[in-house]
Amino acid sequence: MNKQIHSEVVVIGSGPGGYTAAFRAADLGKKVILVEKDKYLGGVCLNRGCIPSKSFLHLSKIIEDAESIKNYGVTFLKPTLDINKIRSWKNNIIYKLNTGINQLAKSRKIKIINGFAKFESKNTLAIENNSDIYRITFENCIIATGSSVKKIPSFPSSNKIIYSSEALELSTIPNKMLIVGAGYIGLEMGSVYNALGSNITVVEFMNCILPGADRDLVKPLEKKIKNNFSNLYLSTKVKKIEVDKPILNVFFEKEDGTTFSETYDNILISIGRKPNTDNLNLESLNITIDKDGFIPINQKCQTAIPNIFAIGDVTGNPMLAHKASHEGKVAAEVIAGLPSRFEPAAIPAVIFTDPEIAWAGPTENELIKNNVAYKKGEFPWSASAKAQVFDDIDGKTKLLFDPKDNKVISGGIVGSNAGDLIGEIVLAIEMGADAEDIGLSIHPHPTLTETISNASEMFTGTITDLYSPKNN
Ligand code: FAD
Repeated sequence: MNKQIHSEVVVIGSGPGGYTAAFRAADLGKKVILVEKDKYLGGVCLNRGCIPSKSFLHLSKIIEDAESIKNYGVTFLKPTLDINKIRSWKNNIIYKLNTGINQLAKSRKIKIINGFAKFESKNTLAIENNSDIYRITFENCIIATGSSVKKIPSFPSSNKIIYSSEALELSTIPNKMLIVGAGYIGLEMGSVYNALGSNITVVEFMNCILPGADRDLVKPLEKKIKNNFSNLYLSTKVKKIEVDKPILNVFFEKEDGTTFSETYDNILISIGRKPNTDNLNLESLNITIDKDGFIPINQKCQTAIPNIFAIGDVTGNPMLAHKASHEGKVAAEVIAGLPSRFEPAAIPAVIFTDPEIAWAGPTENELIKNNVAYKKGEFPWSASAKAQVFDDIDGKTKLLFDPKDNKVISGGIVGSNAGDLIGEIVLAIEMGADAEDIGLSIHPHPTLTETISNASEMFTGTITDLYSPKNN
């Protein structure tokens, strides 16, 4: 059946960018339609990204912690895994959050239409689903179509060669699994499967894991990976995969040209993500995408067509949920006539492995590369009482300051709960805090938050928890 509707705002995609934009626009008095091609709201983040991966990482941390406390005199039996029950536990978390988003949309009287949206003009969208074709006319539209996995076309198709979505379905726990790509998704998934009993090998084309992060922050994770995983092949690429049921033969080539082959039960490809712009018919609107496929936007999140906005993964890096939701708010507020801009001083990045790695603001590598002057305050967790309790003494917290005024430019943390701790550093950067503001703020003891004020004190030379020659 053909249906014709008009709305002040249409949002395409119900991920963290899309639903936030829709909710904010409705709260600002706009009539909103939210279009989603999938059965469930929440996008990649909720259904096949952040939430399922963090659920499994929580589980794997408990398994590893239970094993490691044998060193303190407490021994548990080896865990038995009921993967059906684990899967339903994870699905139930997603279900509760899905229901929550639906409820929040309903309370705001947002109309949800299921189907694939395609532009017909700068004021019209066609939405197709199995039973209906909708034609929506709108005043403003927000594109929040997100991203999807990058595939390697030359690899054979096999249900044993999987991507993050399938890995998060946890259909089996393979004995031997190869992970192609040592970015955060590959390493997080590798940690999960390793804790659940798989032998993990990671292969990475570059000469390091997590190339975007500072090496000092990555070091403790790399040490753990080398201990726990079967192999970490750097500067190595997968040349060919042969499906030899039920085994996969993988042919590798190292940087120096030497080759070798190994067999695996499963391969997880995690080589990055690409923006979802195909079939939106953007060309007809003269919205050109950049060389990486992203939709260029200004600080108001407007595309080249002023009443069409774009937010989230589809607009570029960092492809993270919290960047998407913040852009979503900006787009909705601009549409409602507010003077909003997306101009964050820092967007935090977190790798939820064990140890966690987090940073906000430019990395030290980036500052060096761009010849930006900085000074550093660094506190090793071996001197933190709480880190000693957690047996997390390889951790560290570092703050980078502007030498002109001692304001925090950026910071990085490796160790337990780094992803939670980084919030304080983001706030410090946004508020223009300097080293004294942080060092003189009383942090609770014994906590890991103290390592942030300690890092400041290392810089100002006022540290007492360590001996620093600067004090004398
Ligand atoms: P998405 O969440 O991708 O949502 C886009 C929605 O648009 C989808 O539901 C899609 O079905 C819909 N859509 C697309 N095209 C159309 C169309 N034409 N018509 C109708 N609907 C359409 N980020 C973090 O910040 N922290 C994490 O810990 C984290 N972990 C991750 C783990 C994994 C395994 C993965 C894959 C990603 C992870 N991410 C994480 C990234 C995060 O999921 C994304 O950055 C985030 O989901 C982007 O939100 P978005 O709103 O831009 O788009």
